Amino acid sequence: MQSAQSSLSTETHCPYCALQCGMTLANGPDGLAVTPRPDFPVNKGGLCQKGWTATDLLGHPERLTSPLLRDSKDAPLRPVTWDAALARIAEQVQAVQSAHGLNAVGVFGGGGLTNEKSYLLGKFARVGLQTSQIDYNGRFCMSSAAAANLKAFGVDRGLPFPLEDIAQAQAILMVGSNTSETMPPVMQYFDAQKANGGTLIVADPRRTPTARAATLHLQLTPGTDAALANGLLHIAAADNLLDMDFIAARTSGYDAVQRVVNAYWPDRVERITGVPVKALTEAAHLLGEAQTAMVLTARGAEQQSQGVSNVLAFINLTLALGKSGRAHCGYGCLTGQGNGQGGREHGQKADQLPGYRSINNPAHRAHIARVWGISEADLPQAGVSAYEMLDAMGREGGVRALFVFGSNLSVSAPRAGHVQKNLEKLSFLCVSDIFLSETAARADVVLPCAQWAEETGTMTNLEGRVVLRRQAQEPPANVKTDTEILAAIAAQLGRGRWFPSSCPEAVFAELGHASRGGMADYSGISYAKIAAQDGVFWPCPSAEHAGTPRLFLDAYATEDGRAKFHPVLHRAPAEMPDTEFPLYLTTGRVMAHYQSGTQTRRVPRLLALIPDAYAEMHPSVAQRLGIADGDSVVVTTRRGTASVTAKVTPAIRADTLFIPFHWGGAGCANLLTNPALDPISKMPEFKVCAARVERSIVPPAPAALPV
Ligand code: SF4
Repeated sequence: MQSAQSSLSTETHCPYCALQCGMTLANGPDGLAVTPRPDFPVNKGGLCQKGWTATDLLGHPERLTSPLLRDSKDAPLRPVTWDAALARIAEQVQAVQSAHGLNAVGVFGGGGLTNEKSYLLGKFARVGLQTSQIDYNGRFCMSSAAAANLKAFGVDRGLPFPLEDIAQAQAILMVGSNTSETMPPVMQYFDAQKANGGTLIVADPRRTPTARAATLHLQLTPGTDAALANGLLHIAAADNLLDMDFIAARTSGYDAVQRVVNAYWPDRVERITGVPVKALTEAAHLLGEAQTAMVLTARGAEQQSQGVSNVLAFINLTLALGKSGRAHCGYGCLTGQGNGQGGREHGQKADQLPGYRSINNPAHRAHIARVWGISEADLPQAGVSAYEMLDAMGREGGVRALFVFGSNLSVSAPRAGHVQKNLEKLSFLCVSDIFLSETAARADVVLPCAQWAEETGTMTNLEGRVVLRRQAQEPPANVKTDTEILAAIAAQLGRGRWFPSSCPEAVFAELGHASRGGMADYSGISYAKIAAQDGVFWPCPSAEHAGTPRLFLDAYATEDGRAKFHPVLHRAPAEMPDTEFPLYLTTGRVMAHYQSGTQTRRVPRLLALIPDAYAEMHPSVAQRLGIADGDSVVVTTRRGTASVTAKVTPAIRADTLFIPFHWGGAGCANLLTNPALDPISKMPEFKVCAARVERSIVPPAPAALPV
């Protein structure tokens, strides 16, 4: 389905973040050139620097164009034929499974993969490899909000409303998101909200560009989000700002929450969060007195060992104020990765089957087994979460061979030094990528795959809108799409009959069939419908159904149709500053780069903007430690050290350091981060740990090149 393609141009979407900005690719004098689509209802003509430069990835001189293989662990990678690469893969998989069992082979996916790839990867693991061991880097991104959404609303869709609703909300609380830098085109909705007289409250330890644009900035201590939410609810209750009619009619469990938040009186919350009582009170009143309001969270609140509790606490606040289940109101999660939404719906997660079905539910298992043409007994049980899989690699009971698709986990996993060492313990590592990422460089076999503009597939953006990325040009001659690669490996393993087609539209049709009747029901979505409507919101259960832009207007997706409150206590982060490590360390993104930087660090125009990793620190910290802006510094935690450049700024709290996580090598922020996991979502605590910083006499090694 290429209805929006002419010989001159192709309508498609950006290869990066969850906004999935619409763009047109057209041939120009230097190859394909980008034009933002003013008529696409998400970005409405806006793009950020990453989108404008996206075509620099096509035809890049470092592009992988041949399978690579190493003859022994110490030998260099060398180009080989696909037949040789596939033969090596089959030989290694069979050897590992014979020696250690089926679950000794694992699969690690990515939240940037298309829906078709995500679906096929889950099927490949469970049917092609017959292993339970599959998870993906979305576990590091969305899992806390996903778990909280399921508990409170019975369904997990990041935003239960389209972005256009933001403009009509009178008040918005945004927690742990720097959208001005991470997805700038979305700010047009906040600008419109402001123009309509609305207020924006931003909670963030840093005074980011987003915080500077806000009506009110709550500069909270890292790791105190649940206390902040409970404190706001305490004030709202004390000042009669709650919507008791809504609570009675549409929710359950409020009384238990009220008993808990009684203990979060303003002075106590100021002591925990560092946010003055005056600002807490102003925020509670802005939200409570508005006719319409939203609460939005992102990774700042979610990437913590109490990430699920943090989100539940903000959902409690939203519900108690009656700002849910009606127009221009609601709790929403701002998804980060390109297909962070769709990637978690169709089977890449250890405990999940397509359509957001549970692998632990017998009826769900039976449905998927029927669609896949296998016995339910042959469908593996749940595996372990992403970090748990990486932590156990090479050990007794852990995976001994690993397939990686769409992830650079040796840079993006927490406690990255440990994960890098574990990769060396594997008997076999196979990576499919477009470039030789830090992870691919450690592989035994590297498979060159097609990238965004070279293949067709669907993505589900942060609104739950399924969009179509159309192919604009052919991939290089010896490069395959991931769906072709998965089908080829399955065939080599003698499991090819379960993978009859690698055509994305055929895979999407099978995905729709598998998702029918599930929570994320795509069965009524087709490429033609996406093209006709410029995206379709799930659930869309039939060909006649137009999709569902707004959820919860009549009922929530819980058994009784009511949203559920959950009492939440503030807990300290897994690691608090002490005399040895006196500062908080938090991590995040910058405008010019994306995820582990495998792509953006290879785009010269983006690299020129921010070439290396840095550590933001307050002037008082820098002065105390004799550090000047631009000095080389070493940041140390209990996991390791990172060498970066000092960036001295009053925009950060005096007890906090910030390092962006887009670099590998010595500047890799995840050499420092804490893998303490949320007990429900298994989200690592990327956003807060204890650290110290020292001036270094050795300049940081240039981190410009990924390997
Ligand atoms: Fe691409 Fe996201 Fe930038 Fe839009 S905001 S151009 S989707 S990276």
